[in-house]
Amino acid sequence: MSEDRIIKEKKADPKWKDWGRLGKWEVAGWRIVERDEGQRSDQLAPRTYMVIDRPWDVMYTHSYGRVSQFFMGLLEKKLMGTKCPKCGDVFCPPRAHCWQNDCKLEETDWIEMPLVGTLHSYAIMAFGGEAFLDQLPFILAYVRVDGANTMIAGRLAGIRPEDVECDTRVKIKFIDEPTGNPMDIYFEMDGEPEHSKPEEQKARIREKLKPIEEWVAERKRG
Ligand SMILES: [Zn+2]
Repeated sequence: MSEDRIIKEKKADPKWKDWGRLGKWEVAGWRIVERDEGQRSDQLAPRTYMVIDRPWDVMYTHSYGRVSQFFMGLLEKKLMGTKCPKCGDVFCPPRAHCWQNDCKLEETDWIEMPLVGTLHSYAIMAFGGEAFLDQLPFILAYVRVDGANTMIAGRLAGIRPEDVECDTRVKIKFIDEPTGNPMDIYFEMDGEPEHSKPEEQKARIREKLKPIEEWVAERKRG
């Protein structure tokens, strides 16, 4: 096995240095708690439990492997895809090998993709992982970047959820300081979408999103 030769590096902040070492599975603290429990919400009775705190966090160091160039591209605000030299299929997000049976896992070549595409489909997210809760309700969009045979997922920003329309043109944008993470890119509408939703449907969406918006506002107030 050979050693990595570092070509370029952004060192992890030293504050993370001891992060992984905390995970010794020791009991750092505990508390005895009471909570009301039962099989029916109108027939709850108190029960006592012991809850313990065990530090168990890790620094997860992993390689992006054969698709590393996609993430290296993000650092330079370039969108990279791959192209099969046999059949010409283009993949963005990239595939290291072609998906066609006839191409027998042919290794693909890297190409730079244009920063424009078409909105294929989307979902209005009313819930998400901890990191995204403050951004709710956000739009998770699938975009076919011009020239690609696949869709890439990302957030669609700068538009109210009820105004989104499929098949409209979008621009691929980068956050100010990319970190080599899929969240470095997002989409924005390229011009005004052609509206096809009736006003009544839009009003219904707005109504459904209201409690989520209130919940997020409340959460932000702390
Ligand atoms: Zn192919």
